Amino acid sequence: MEVQAFAKLNLTLDVLSKRPDGYHDLRMIMQSVTLADRLTLEETGAGEVRVRTDLHFLPTGEKNLAAQAALRYWQARGEGPRGLDIAIQKRIPVCAGMGGGSSDAAAVLRALNDRDGAPFSREELARIGEQVGADVPYCVLGGTALAEGKGEALTPLPDLPRCWAVVCKPEFSISTPELFARIDSVRLRRRPDTRGAVEALEAGDLVGVARRLYNVFEDVLPDRQRARVFDLKNLLIGCGALGASMSGTGPTVFGLFDREDPAREAHDRLSQESRETFLCQTV
Ligand code: ATP
Repeated sequence: MEVQAFAKLNLTLDVLSKRPDGYHDLRMIMQSVTLADRLTLEETGAGEVRVRTDLHFLPTGEKNLAAQAALRYWQARGEGPRGLDIAIQKRIPVCAGMGGGSSDAAAVLRALNDRDGAPFSREELARIGEQVGADVPYCVLGGTALAEGKGEALTPLPDLPRCWAVVCKPEFSISTPELFARIDSVRLRRRPDTRGAVEALEAGDLVGVARRLYNVFEDVLPDRQRARVFDLKNLLIGCGALGASMSGTGPTVFGLFDREDPAREAHDRLSQESRETFLCQTV
């Protein structure tokens, strides 16, 4: 079985409050894009799940989210584990705020479910995915959606009008726990206009959405990283992006374009800043 796992971008990301269980209540608009990992699944009959990827530092066994998804799937079916080899060609940058691991997990759920003649609906599959991670349910459904709670409470939204996204992952990484700790200790100066962005989506207004791209984590980045993210966003805007923002807990920055030519030029320009720069479309 071959299946693609699409990356996600956060069109908006807001942190509403810290919950008694230690998690945060979030509100974010998610969008899947054509940048994708490729997974090949092969049944081996050996009763073991093995994962191979082209990145040596990723886990190969049950620590890999793709393997966890397979185990949860069989558990939900009331079956014991089957033998499965999962080969992943990683294209989605790792620890980048693009949900790569969650998307791989969701792709495994979809592949196994299709293989078995769809015993689970998409919604049921999303609930199984929630046991692997809060972003997995969204990755099962894909498209444009409002995600609330830990990210698992989903409301599908009208598709973002056709556009191009230039995605650039700068060379540093960001600690997600550190960013959440920082956000708890400051008063946010700016929040995304999520309602306005939803209305713009409902009106099919790409410019209205692009103008409202915003992620509260940008405000709490350490100084040097914030400056770098700001520079990359400015470069994208300078190249004609309708709007630009950071995705997830970063550090990936992206810009939206309504035309392909400026998007290609922006891709070429940003490639000089980071080799992990991609031109993609929304899915
Ligand atoms: P998010 O946007 O959901 O915060 P992320 O971009 O920060 O995701 P990922 O790249 O999805 O992070 O995952 C990073 C962590 O998950 C790494 O520590 C990695 O070892 C682990 N991991 C487990 N399975 C995978 C996988 N299939 N692909 C990528 N990372 C994986």
